[in-house]
Amino acid sequence: MATHTIVLIPGDGIGPEVTRATRRVLEAAGLGVQWVELPAGATAIDQAYADVLPAETLAAIRAHGVALKGPVTTPVGKGFRSVNVQLRQALDLYAAVRPVRNLPGVATRFDGVDMVIIRENTEGLYSGIENAVVPGVVTSLKVATEKGCTRIARWAFRYATRRHRRKITVFHKANIMKLTDGLFLSCARRIQEEEYPNIEYEELIIDAGCMKLVQDPTRFDVLLMENLYGDLVSDLAAGLVGGLGVVPGANIGDAAAVFEAVHGSAPDIAGKGVANPLACLMSGVMMLNHLHEEAVAERVKTAYNAVLAEGTIRTRDLGGAAGTDEFADAVIAHL
Ligand code: NAD
Repeated sequence: MATHTIVLIPGDGIGPEVTRATRRVLEAAGLGVQWVELPAGATAIDQAYADVLPAETLAAIRAHGVALKGPVTTPVGKGFRSVNVQLRQALDLYAAVRPVRNLPGVATRFDGVDMVIIRENTEGLYSGIENAVVPGVVTSLKVATEKGCTRIARWAFRYATRRHRRKITVFHKANIMKLTDGLFLSCARRIQEEEYPNIEYEELIIDAGCMKLVQDPTRFDVLLMENLYGDLVSDLAAGLVGGLGVVPGANIGDAAAVFEAVHGSAPDIAGKGVANPLACLMSGVMMLNHLHEEAVAERVKTAYNAVLAEGTIRTRDLGGAAGTDEFADAVIAHL
């Protein structure tokens, strides 16, 4: 079996707990791996690095092309730019992919939810271009480029085709943001018409789209949207299948990929050993598939599905009493 070199960023809050659990499961499942552990976030500042995203961390991801990352806390109001925004822009990780599915044994309001949110990850209001025009008046610039809109649309349609998905729905607000969201829409439309007529295409104004999402999420297949909308809709969608503890994610570019759960550093439960490691572990499974370690990925997925289906060991967010490590141990026992 190949040995992979993977950058591991434990992150802040519950990050070290969930990444440690994930690492144990992946190694127990037989992944040949050499971890390169490096900090980011508040932890980096605590370790006397000058920035929340140390140059060493960024260089290691560039060199090895793949990272597993825990959530990070960006100190608010101290002049640091968000680690996540920096990372995604510096490595041009333009496609965020978040599969949202029902899990065995996790009862939720809806059955049959199986959608994938694809979020543009480098532009929109996350460009970080803000301006104080005069005292008391500030602006934030929403950026959309034809290049950025076209490549995320092409990425989404290619993904949908390869994964045998049937439909892409774009959420937008082009009725108000005629230029920026208008460009996002026209690029998506053009890619569908010219390159992917095999995939059904739909556009929904985001407010109505959110209503439809909570009324019947099973009507959606692949959802494509710009940066801010993707951020919000990911958490909303997580709530439909059991919460932030069960939704994984990947940030993918042409030269590197960073795998991380949708959730944040959860300061309310950090250090208590109660966080659900599943979202991070599922992100690890996405990473295994990216590394063409499909057999190990399948073993891990089968094991956590079995633990969930049995239902005796589950974390508090899913109504159980098990801790982070106890859940990881149960998964390892099922490998
Ligand atoms: P959060 O996702 O950290 O937490 C929201 C709620 O979900 C909390 O009640 C938390 O306890 C719960 N939760 C989240 N993950 C869980 C898990 N694995 N198991 C059980 N419960 C879980 O969102 P927040 O509180 O708004 O943000 C906290 C910090 O995280 C902020 O500093 C924010 O900037 C940061 N953040 C980082 C990332 C990232 O690094 N990718 C993403 C989102 C937020």
